[in-house]
Parts: sequence; structure tokens; C-alpha cells
Amino acid sequence: MFSYRHAFHAGNHADVLKHTCLIALMKYLTQKDTALTVIDTHAGAGLYRLDGDYTETSGEASEGIFKLLLASKTASAQTGKSGAAIKKVAPAATTKTPPAAPEPTAKSAADYAWAPALQDYLELLRSLNPHFAQTGDPAHLKIYPGSPFIEQKFLSGRDKLKLFELHPTDFKSLTGNIEQLGVGRQVVVAREDGFEALKTFLPPPARRAMVLCDPSYEMKTDYLRVSSCMADAVKRFATGTYVVWYPIIPRPEAHDLPRKLKTIAVKAGRSWLNATLTVKSSKLTTDTEGEVVRPGLPASGMFIINPPHTLKAELQAALPQMVALLGQDRNAGFTLEHGG
Ligand code: SAM
Repeated sequence: MFSYRHAFHAGNHADVLKHTCLIALMKYLTQKDTALTVIDTHAGAGLYRLDGDYTETSGEASEGIFKLLLASKTASAQTGKSGAAIKKVAPAATTKTPPAAPEPTAKSAADYAWAPALQDYLELLRSLNPHFAQTGDPAHLKIYPGSPFIEQKFLSGRDKLKLFELHPTDFKSLTGNIEQLGVGRQVVVAREDGFEALKTFLPPPARRAMVLCDPSYEMKTDYLRVSSCMADAVKRFATGTYVVWYPIIPRPEAHDLPRKLKTIAVKAGRSWLNATLTVKSSKLTTDTEGEVVRPGLPASGMFIINPPHTLKAELQAALPQMVALLGQDRNAGFTLEHGG
């Protein structure tokens, strides 16, 4: 049994990229009147506590969602974007001392001029965290949604959501979390291999589908399974929107995956979009005692086959903000390519 648990990583920089894209996709795809089938091949637990044991142990959210919020607060205080950032100082007419320099007021992340896709991401976090919504204080952000909860939020009555999760504990948590929503058979949770299960749902009845394929890549074979699964899915149903998250790490399989996905899209004559976010260098460093320090995940990407035509412009606006707020060193950056 594999050891990967998404709770260790919930709200990290890769989740910020993945979930911002996912929200933009769901928002667009659920606008039409025809039913949409959403298939999440690797669902995870659905909801995570940011003050829970797992997230506290790894602290990855501090390089992700918490950094985004805190850095945006600092940035808006420095630039005074809302027009209210500079305190009015009373005129010093009766004294000889010069007036005090204007000070930035304490600002919240809400004052930052967010790109619309990031604004939507934060809005969704607020909807799950009423206290955070009220105060804007990152300390009040306690609940983090995984992909199933994001997908479910956008469904209309005619849409369906199929969730697959193999890990027994995460499957149990996911089932419990979804049951609490009282959404009945609109959302189906199954403890099955998502790569295999996908085949049985394509093509979907109303011929509209979005598939999120987000494995842990804990096993080297996951890279190959993702590309074979996507090649098969595009053959079965060419017009579906296929969304793959992948890590950018110094390993040949990881390097090859986006290239393989591009070949699948091009061969099938489909459009594609590839967005990457790098927050730091992938180089090993040493600490003061000479111990080797691994950098953790430095970068990740989202590859989308048949993206909505609006997605590129949305990411073009959001990615520079992610780099500015989440970047840790001069290697930080983004790429955004598309074709077809
Ligand atoms: N998509 C989730 C999100 O954004 O909130 C995170 C998913 S996490 C990266 C990957 C999940 O896939 C883990 O919970 C793992 O237990 C599960 N998993 C691993 N192999 C699987 C398989 N073959 N089929 C279904 N689930 C699998």
C-alpha cells in the first residue's frame, strides 16, 4: 500500500496552481445547458484541515496558500493599491517638527488587486471558512478544499461527479465528507483504480466531460499510466477536457510527461495548454552543519487537452501574481504555452 497522503501537501504551491486552474475550468464548463460529467481519477480525501496534524507536520501550506495571503497583504500595504493604504496624517501646522512620514495601514489580502482567477480561488476558500471571510486573517483559514469539493461546488442539477480514491483511509474520509453535503447520487465515490475506471465512463451520455488526473506519482509507473490513460481517453472521447497535474522534478519520467501529453493532443488534432509554476531552485543545498537539504517540490505543471478558449488569458493574468507572491528565489517563474 502506498504511503502518499495529500493531507501533508494540502494548500501547497502546487495546489494553488492546480485548484486555481480547476476553478476556472469548472466555472466555464458548467455554464452550458448540457449536462457535464466530471471524473476525478485520484480524488484524495476531499477536505483538509490546515491546522491538522498532517499539514502542521509538513508546513507545506506555509509555502502555498498562507504565503499567497501574507505576501499579498504586504504587497498591497506597500503599494496602496486600494487607494486607502496611506494613512492621512494631521497637518503639523502648530509644531516645527516635520509631519510624520505616511505609514501604510495594516492591509488584508482582500486589498490586493487579484487577477480574476485568483479572486475566484480565494472566494471559494472564503465560502468554506466563514470566520476567515469575515476577518481576512490567514490564521482563520482552517479548512482547505481538495479537488472533489471544488468540482462539487460548481455542479448544476444535471451534472454528475465521479470520484475515485484507492487509499482506504482517504476513501473513508472522502465518503464521509461527501455524505455530509447531502448531494445524493449526483456524486459517486468509489474505491477503484481511477486509471482503469475512467475507461468505463467515456464517452459520457451527454457527450460533455472534464477529467482531472492528479496522481501522487509516488510510483514511477504513474507517469506512464497517465500518458497511456490520456491517449486511451482521447481515443474514446476526443472532445473531452482532460486535465493532468504533474510535478516538475529532476527525473526523466517527469520531464517526458508533458511532451508525451503534447504529442497525444497534436496527433489527435486537439488543442492543448501547458502552464507551469516554479517557486524555487531544484538544487540540493547544505545547512550550517553540512547536512544535505532537499528543496521539496520546486515546481509543477498543469497540462490541459481541449482547454476552454478563455483559460489562457485567465492564467496569463494569474501566473505572474503567483510568481510574485509565492516565488522564493530568483528561479521563480512561470511558462504558459498552447497549441492546436
Ligand atoms: N486531486 C486531489 C486534490 O487536488 O485535492 C489530490 C489527489 S492526491 C495528489 C492523489 C490521490 O490518489 C491520493 O489520495 C492517493 O491515495 C490516490 N491514488 C493513488 N493511486 C490511485 C489510483 N490508481 N486510483 C485512484 N486513486 C489513487
